[in-house]
Amino acid sequence: MIKILIFSLLTMGSIAAVSAADDESVTVYSSRKEHLIKPLFDAFTKETGIKVDYLTGTGGALIERLKLEGKNTKADMFMTVDAGNLWYIGSQGLFQAVQTQVLKNNIPNHLRDPKGLWTGLSVRARTLVYNTEQVNPSELSTYADLALPKWEGRLCLRTSKKIYTKSLVASLIYHHGEDKAGDIISGWVNNLAATPNAKDSHIMNAILSGQCDVGLVNTYYYGRLMAKKPNSPLKLFWANQNTTGVHVNISGAGVTKYAKNSKSAIKLLEWLSGTKAQVIYGSLNKEYPANQNIASDEVVSAWGAFKQDDMNLSQVGILQATAVKLMQKKGYR
Ligand code: FE
Repeated sequence: MIKILIFSLLTMGSIAAVSAADDESVTVYSSRKEHLIKPLFDAFTKETGIKVDYLTGTGGALIERLKLEGKNTKADMFMTVDAGNLWYIGSQGLFQAVQTQVLKNNIPNHLRDPKGLWTGLSVRARTLVYNTEQVNPSELSTYADLALPKWEGRLCLRTSKKIYTKSLVASLIYHHGEDKAGDIISGWVNNLAATPNAKDSHIMNAILSGQCDVGLVNTYYYGRLMAKKPNSPLKLFWANQNTTGVHVNISGAGVTKYAKNSKSAIKLLEWLSGTKAQVIYGSLNKEYPANQNIASDEVVSAWGAFKQDDMNLSQVGILQATAVKLMQKKGYR
């Protein structure tokens, strides 16, 4: 409660000049950090006069809070990363369906829940990263290729506990079926140079230290590392370009089931999918705009264009439990 009040006051301070009716204001629970959302909310308020209060925290804690608060919640919108998380919130009956023409026009089908429970607002790509001194890119091709014996002792992967891994494996199950996906995981486990890493940045550090030659990361972590150490012998490789495309995921949002002000929340959601917000999204965290009419940030564009997997991202939620069981069965820790 105290935290909400503090955040409300902070937000109110920054928009004091705007006179909007109080009943128009929107409250957002966000697992995205303040520096990634505040510029967006400030721009929205400036343009519409609608005040945005927000509460940030870890995704798990905020979801629990939303559940406990039930009908009494102050949250009109919930923002978080990974379609697996958004799908889970939807599966708990905590989102309401929102399907507007603006959202349909701005955000492609595969980045939105088929029932309209949540909408992708930025795209993150999870692809191969390799040491340019150890690997010739002609050796690289697909996620499945990393299961072949040629990569034995040369692969670094993130822990199976992380939702990014669960979503990627869910996509393998979707495209290949459970048996073949199981074989791929077995091959990966067999090829690991070390215990799976806790973070994507650790994977790249392990590659730079010579512990492994190739790994899988979300590209914005690569962007962060290269901004700090631009001469690192690391490069991204776009996976599955001749097959299903790079596995992408989203950060996104939905309007809560018990929103007190769903009208303004829908307005905010639509605004976040539009040009101004999508440019901000692309530049703040070196992700890709979800709105395909918006060009990527300069730094991000320099990594090259790629074909993205157009599997509907609700599948990473639907197949998540199967993915977790399969990884356990195959010894992916
Ligand atoms: Fe991340």
